[in-house]
Amino acid sequence: MIRINENYLKLRSSYLFVEIANRVSSYQKENPDAEIIRLGIGDVTLPLPPACIQAFQEGVKEMASDSTFRGYGPEQGYGFLRDKIALNDYQALGADIDSDEIFVSDGAKCDTGNIQELFATDIRLAIPDPVYPVYLDTNVMAGRTGNFNNGRYNDIIYLESLPENGFVPFLPETPVDLIYLCFPNNPTGATISKDSLKKWVDFAHEHKVLILFDAAYEAFIRDPDLPRSIFEIDGAREVAIEFRSFSKTAGFTGTRCAYTVVPKTCMAYDERGQQHSLHGLWSRRQSTKFNGVSYPVQRAAEAAYSDAGKTQIIEMVDYYLKNAALIRNEMASLGFEFVGGENSPYIWVHCKRDAWEFFDLLLKTAGVVTTPGPGFGKCGEGFIRISAFNSYEKVEKAMVRIKDALSG
Ligand code: PLP
Repeated sequence: MIRINENYLKLRSSYLFVEIANRVSSYQKENPDAEIIRLGIGDVTLPLPPACIQAFQEGVKEMASDSTFRGYGPEQGYGFLRDKIALNDYQALGADIDSDEIFVSDGAKCDTGNIQELFATDIRLAIPDPVYPVYLDTNVMAGRTGNFNNGRYNDIIYLESLPENGFVPFLPETPVDLIYLCFPNNPTGATISKDSLKKWVDFAHEHKVLILFDAAYEAFIRDPDLPRSIFEIDGAREVAIEFRSFSKTAGFTGTRCAYTVVPKTCMAYDERGQQHSLHGLWSRRQSTKFNGVSYPVQRAAEAAYSDAGKTQIIEMVDYYLKNAALIRNEMASLGFEFVGGENSPYIWVHCKRDAWEFFDLLLKTAGVVTTPGPGFGKCGEGFIRISAFNSYEKVEKAMVRIKDALSG
């Protein structure tokens, strides 16, 4: 008899998106002519930058000829891409990261989900609340979280992000081994200052903790004082791994390319207290279970670092930030408190009532779909996430409708 991994039974069902889909489809059935505007999803809407498309096409052409065809590539990614990443995303910021500390992959989702394989099953985990659900669910699958009770897993230390702490969690007060952080944050859109991030890095040094830092939304940072990478902080090379993605930066959600930075100086320990390089373990994991990202996709990602690519990406992100500014303005004029939307595509709105009730109100009176906060954790109660990923025209229309609905 084949038995299952019973940890899967501890997972909460993907209730959130199913429930949103059900509510939207029943609204649509009742109102077949209503135009629904979706500000709920975290997927980009603009096409790939022309520089990336051109490099993508050239890469495909190379695959069509004997002399330039490529088979399996290096599991860690082609040198041409790793070099550009190290130079542009790290060395240019003064962060000491080498190209061989970069592991190219097909997504930050896979990497943030797979990384936990490197750690013992009985480590103590600190996970933000609200949170991008992948960090939590992959640890549930691995048996690290205990059972789910009253909206929380028993063995997780929750790092609460609330108005009281400006949506940047306080340092944990109980012992912990592994900490997940994400800035600019999904779902709150909050950012972290260099000083605050330094406190986390110092804490990690002091307590032999590892920080997993998800910077998937780094491209949305416009404030020059905010850190784009944890490796801008002194000491982070010993205690942090960083995840980045071309998904939200360059519109690669359907094209798939991301990378993880594991510095060679970043260590973890075995039962006897002996230290091991996480770089070596991740390299072993990737070369065993992953065969690399396709050549044309890596060429397309490389083009994101060309002069034309850089300009096009800034324009693209600016477009979403303009949407975000519009949403912020409208929420402010309606008297809501919110965070995010300045260096992030998400606006986290305190709706001062039940989140699902507010979701229904916006759907039924304005035809606008948002994401109720409780889907991201207990601290999401009373909040909704509004996403800036849509066309400016639709965001504008959505804001007019919300204003009419709420002030009418
Ligand atoms: N990390 C965060 C915080 C995200 O919000 C997302 C996607 O929404 C990802 C990672 C996944 O990125 P990718 O498309 O590279 O898998």
